[in-house]
Amino acid sequence: MSETQLADPGSTRRTRVRRIPELAVGDRSTLHQVLDAGLVGHLALADETGQPYAVPVAYARAQETVLVHGSTASRLFRLCAAGTPVCFAVTLLDGLVLARSAFESSMNYRSVMVLGHCAVLHGRAKQHGLRLIGEHLMPERWPEIREPSAAELRATAVLELPLEECSVKINDDGPDDPAEDVELPVWAGRVPLVRRWGAPVPADDLKPEHSRIPDYIQRWRERVS
Ligand SMILES: Cc1cc2nc3c(=O)[nH]c(=O)nc-3n(C[C@H](O)[C@H](O)[C@H](O)COP(=O)(O)OP(=O)(O)OC[C@H]3O[C@@H](n4cnc5c(N)ncnc54)[C@H](O)[C@@H]3O)c2cc1C
Repeated sequence: MSETQLADPGSTRRTRVRRIPELAVGDRSTLHQVLDAGLVGHLALADETGQPYAVPVAYARAQETVLVHGSTASRLFRLCAAGTPVCFAVTLLDGLVLARSAFESSMNYRSVMVLGHCAVLHGRAKQHGLRLIGEHLMPERWPEIREPSAAELRATAVLELPLEECSVKINDDGPDDPAEDVELPVWAGRVPLVRRWGAPVPADDLKPEHSRIPDYIQRWRERVS
């Protein structure tokens, strides 16, 4: 994909943020940061009857694309592979915004929408895509786990969605109450939401000789996304 095909986030007719446009962010580095901080997205598409579905999926960003994987038996994945238009959305909830009224109360968030069509990856590109998804979800673990077998590869589709037409919306502010509400006898402000991994729980069948918790899990736990 050439750089000239990459529209800035929110710069096309379909992706221009109209509602509260001051929350739109137009640079690609923020787009990348939000995608890199998330683990789950929703791949939305309509089937042959026009019924829309939003499928939660694990994903990874690879340069100017998003990679997702799923069963080759999945009806919705087959539709994506056949070129059905999709909308892929990632939402990171960062906190609650507590205003003095229900109407003004809201959420802090970072969110991305990508519009486009998926391409199916094959051969080495497919295997590399699976590795990138694995490394994004479980950093540093791929080298020590078993790689997919030929049968597992046949059962898995890897799709690539270009980050050509996309938008980023970020709300990171406090409440914006009208002056008359500021007098109301109620607390107002922000309550941040922090995402952090909890303590690992060993598998019931873990061999005692394998019970040492990998250092990378401790590194995951020190990170806040
Ligand atoms: C965690 C969370 C909770 C939210 N809760 C609500 C709610 O309860 N009610 C509500 O009305 N809105 C809510 N929003 C905002 C909502 O996502 C839409 O931005 C908003 O409803 C505007 O819709 P619209 O159809 O007017 O969008 P428009 O501004 O007309 O959409 C035009 C284009 O802007 C882009 N865009 C719109 N919204 C987003 C987005 N969130 N992220 C990235 N790009 C976007 C898309 O490319 C879209 O095609 C929430 C957002 C988040 C992330």
